[in-house]
Amino acid sequence: MSDPADQRRYPALRVLSVSNQQGGVGKTTTAINLGTALAAVGEKVLIVDLDPQGNASTGLGIPRGQRKVTVYDVIVHGASLADAAVATALPGLDLAPSDPNLSGIEMELASAQRRSFRLRDAIAGLRARAEGEGYSYVLIDCPPSLNLLTVNAMAAADAVLVPLQCEFFALEGLTQLMRTVELVRGSLNPRLEIQGVVLTMYDRRNRLSEQVASDVRSHFGEKVYKTMIPRNVRVSEAPSFGQPVLVYDLNCLGSQAYLSLAREVVGRERHRRVAAAH
Ligand code: ADP
Ligand code: MG
Repeated sequence: MSDPADQRRYPALRVLSVSNQQGGVGKTTTAINLGTALAAVGEKVLIVDLDPQGNASTGLGIPRGQRKVTVYDVIVHGASLADAAVATALPGLDLAPSDPNLSGIEMELASAQRRSFRLRDAIAGLRARAEGEGYSYVLIDCPPSLNLLTVNAMAAADAVLVPLQCEFFALEGLTQLMRTVELVRGSLNPRLEIQGVVLTMYDRRNRLSEQVASDVRSHFGEKVYKTMIPRNVRVSEAPSFGQPVLVYDLNCLGSQAYLSLAREVVGRERHRRVAAAH
């Protein structure tokens, strides 16, 4: 048994916010497929779909009609995440579904107390469960902006995982995101870390792709995962079948890349735990 004090510092449940204020960079794809890959290596995973668009919910085959208690109920009405969670087709992977009403919470919570901590308070309910019984990872799929939803995600998270598309403005966008993480660290969540930056839609034949990857690595060094997610048509086809790509086509390059990313993520978390114990 580890020291309970260590568990408090590095609790059994790890909460990762999949964030980037730019749209179309691979947040949802990463949340779904990293979540699936983590479940495949034995973790117990909950994906929280915090985007009013609900792409993670649809991509995991949970249609509107099956979304009874949603993340909107959790954030606005204080429903529990355990009640919102629905099982996906994959053992070990649950989803707390989105709701289009999430797009209105900025107004709805305008004068509410602890408006930035709604998700954190809900996750505290999950953390209270005994080790081994509950989830080992929560992945939060953020909307493409730095609004109250993303702030809730960063206030609730242990660490941020940033998908970055190998495109021209990637570095500017990343610098802005890092500034936001600093702001959240200075106010709402002093312990927020960067889990890592994952390069997505990487195309080896494209010079720009290679240039951006090498620029990002030279600026952010070790923070960038070794794994790069290749641009792969199987990855983009899978959501229309309501399946993670690992279920749709386990052997394609995209699936193999997400498995390799999952191993890096778990390795980093283990490393942190060991470091925290000393
Ligand atoms: P975000 O959630 O950041 O807006 P998405 O994950 O929805 O981004 O991805 C944007 C689009 O790019 C989607 O159509 C998705 O299917 C596609 N896509 C994401 N990753 C890949 C990839 N590795 N290969 C090919 N298409 C991808
Ligand atoms: Mg998305």
